Order: sequence, then structure tokens, then C-alpha cells
Amino acid sequence: MTARTTLAEIVSCLSDFDPKAVPVARAREAIERFVEPIDCVERVAIRAALGRVLARDVVSPIDVPAHDNSAMDGWAVRSQDLSADADTPLATIGTAYAGVAFDGAVGPGQAVRVMTGAVMPNGCDTVVIQEVVRADGDRIVVPRGQQAGQNRRLRGEDLARGRAALHAGRLIRPADLGLLASLGVAEVPVQRRLRVAFFSTGDELRSIGEPLDAGCVYDSNRYTLHGMLTRLGVELLDMGVVPDSREALEAAMRTASLHADAIVSSGGVSVGEADFTREVMDSLGEVAFWTIAMRPGRPMAFGRVGDAWYFGLPGNPVAVMVTFLFFVRDALIRQSGASPRPVLPLRARSVARMRKRPGRTEYQRAIVEPGPDGALQARITGSQGSGVLRSMSEANALVVLHHEQGDVAAGDWVDAIPFDGLM
Ligand code: AMP
Ligand code: MG
Repeated sequence: MTARTTLAEIVSCLSDFDPKAVPVARAREAIERFVEPIDCVERVAIRAALGRVLARDVVSPIDVPAHDNSAMDGWAVRSQDLSADADTPLATIGTAYAGVAFDGAVGPGQAVRVMTGAVMPNGCDTVVIQEVVRADGDRIVVPRGQQAGQNRRLRGEDLARGRAALHAGRLIRPADLGLLASLGVAEVPVQRRLRVAFFSTGDELRSIGEPLDAGCVYDSNRYTLHGMLTRLGVELLDMGVVPDSREALEAAMRTASLHADAIVSSGGVSVGEADFTREVMDSLGEVAFWTIAMRPGRPMAFGRVGDAWYFGLPGNPVAVMVTFLFFVRDALIRQSGASPRPVLPLRARSVARMRKRPGRTEYQRAIVEPGPDGALQARITGSQGSGVLRSMSEANALVVLHHEQGDVAAGDWVDAIPFDGLM
């Protein structure tokens, strides 16, 4: 087995990488370079392939469409029969329906009634739509000005037999299921689902059903993580709450690294707690502790424990969601064998002014919706404290105030990432 590249080696190739002040883009880059995709293929029926990662190219076994056919209801004609500068009378000799072809050849001066999807009758190359044709018994008159080849779909024009219809690494979406069905493909090779272990750390955490002692809080991070990971389509391994003890953390990390491809924890990486987490991690694998230039967020641990990738997220409930979205989500998609699709920001007008310090990326929870003039506007959802889940729950987007950006005035355009469907 060849020695794996270490995180330290990867980070050393990124110029000016300061673990105490890592811009968001830099952290994403380091993670992207470090994470490796799994390759473990299983075959599933196409319906079950939704949300899975295609493991091999799917080569089309047929031409789609399988025949030249009509794109419209009308009459199939021979373009060479049509007069360029006068209307053309033709004799109709039959009808072709979708699924029922016209048997026989079409000669000079003849036309065949065709329905959408009908195989083009032999000899015809053009379809004239029914709306412009004057029909009278078994004769029609085609007006001048028709284009040769119009309203005809060519065999193999959507997909040619032998060509890759879908490429390996594709995250399969509903349109792809339809595409696969159109090829008559019943099963596809997909990567096995990623297994992700997750747990919360903190002596102050109580689980639902337990009494809330003084100074304690209910563990909410495991629930937001459960939701976000479920939406990613991974297999979950919920390891509960891990107390702030060396032994407990070490045991949890060992178990997780044996059973999962990736481990996500929350809490225990802030300045006050990092020392003890760091000791545990040093004995288990290679984990770096970074301070990300972002808000909410800041502290984060990332690395490898055994064969599993490890993401140590901050404890604050909103910070967990934001760091998951920007660091963990794409990494897990990549690890699943797919290329993450870029998250597309919208441009919206900020309703209010926002203070922003250049030198870090800030994410503000907001509702983005059309304003009175129809243009999108972004309205912040109350307190932006990194523990305030309510403002996250009310929001439908994160306004991104970029690393170099300064204060925003009311009415300024800002980038906003709608997160419905993302998390
Ligand atoms: P930590 O990063 O462990 O220092 O935690 C930062 C803050 O987030 C503290 O106020 C914790 O109580 C809170 N916190 C940590 N983990 C959780 C959790 N799983 N659910 C809710 N709050 C948490
Ligand atoms: Mg803690």
C-alpha cells in the first residue's frame, strides 16, 4: 500500500496557510484536496438510484429516438414535391400514429397524415403542421414557405447508441431516472452509501426525555445533523452524547472510525476545550485545529482518524449548520464519489444596513423574497447570535458577506444562498 498524503503535506502546498486565520475558501480547498472518494459499487433498480452516485458511465444501448419521427400533428410530405413560390396540392394516402407506422412508400405528390411521435413514413422528410394545411377529402393544400426537414425528430438525436448517456460521478436526479427509463435501462451501478457517524460532546448536554438540570441544555446539534445528513442520503450512525472526558471521547472516536467513512462531532473544539480534544486526536490520527475567518463558525477540527475523515464542528447550534453547509456537505458528496454542484447564490437587496468587518466571511440568516418592486430582497431574521436557532429556523437563506466586504447599506445588493433543499 502506498503511503497516503498527510493533511500537513496538503496544507504546506497552500501558500500562506495560517491555521489561526483560515479564510473559508482556503479551508474548503484544503478539505477538497484531502478527501478521497470511496469506490464500492452495487447495482440498484433505477427508482432506487435517486440521490445515489452513479459509479460507472451508462452507455446507451439504443438510439433515442429509435426512428425519425414527427414532432407535431400534421402531414408528412416529401420536401422535393413542395413548390417554393406557390401552394402545393398533394394526395393523402394514409395515416401514421405514434406506435403504428404507415406501411408502404410515399411517392411524388403524396402525403401521409401523421400524429406526434409517429415514425416518419418512407420517403417523407418534412412535416407540415395541421393548422396551416387546407384539407378537403383525400386532398390537401400545403402553403408555400415550408422548410425541408421541419418538425421532424431524427433517429438518435437525443442519444446515440453506444454513447455515454450519463457519466460516472453523477448524483442521480429525477430527470436522470426518466432518461435511464427512456433507454430501457433497468438497473445502474451506484456507489454504496457513505456511512457517517455523528455525536455531540459536552457535559452540559441532556437528551430529550432527561430532566434539564441547572445550567444544562438539550442537545439540539444531533438533530440538525441528523436532518442535514439524512438529506444528503448517507447512512447514519447516531452515537449520542459524549461527555467531556478523555476516555469517553477516545472510545467514541475509535468506535466511529471503525464503523464509518466519516465522523462529524459538535463541540469541544473551542479555545477552552481544544487542548483536551487535541490530545485525544493526536493519539488517534492526524487532526488539525483551525480557526476559520468566519462568523458564525470559527473553531473547527479536520483530519483523518483511522480510515475515516473527521469533521469537528463548533458547538454553537447555528455554527454547526453553517460549517456543515460550507465544509462538510461538499466533502461528503465528494467522498461519495460525486462532484458537488456549485451552490448558486441569488442577488438580493438588503432591506437594512449591516455592519461587517473585512477579513472574515459572515453569514446572516435571512428571508429572501420578492419585494414591492418585484426584485428580491433580503431581510435578516432577528438576533444573529451563533446559538440562536430560531433565527435559523425562520430563515430561508444565508446572506454571504464576503471575506473582503465591508459594511452594507440599506438597498445594497448582496449574495444570498437559498438553503431550502440544501439543509
Ligand atoms: P463548545 O463548542 O463545546 O464550547 O460549545 C459552545 C456552545 O454551544 C456552548 O454554549 C454549548 O452549550 C453549546 N452546545 C454545544 N453542543 C451543543 C449541542 N449538541 N446542542 C446544543 N447546544 C450545544
Ligand atoms: Mg463543549
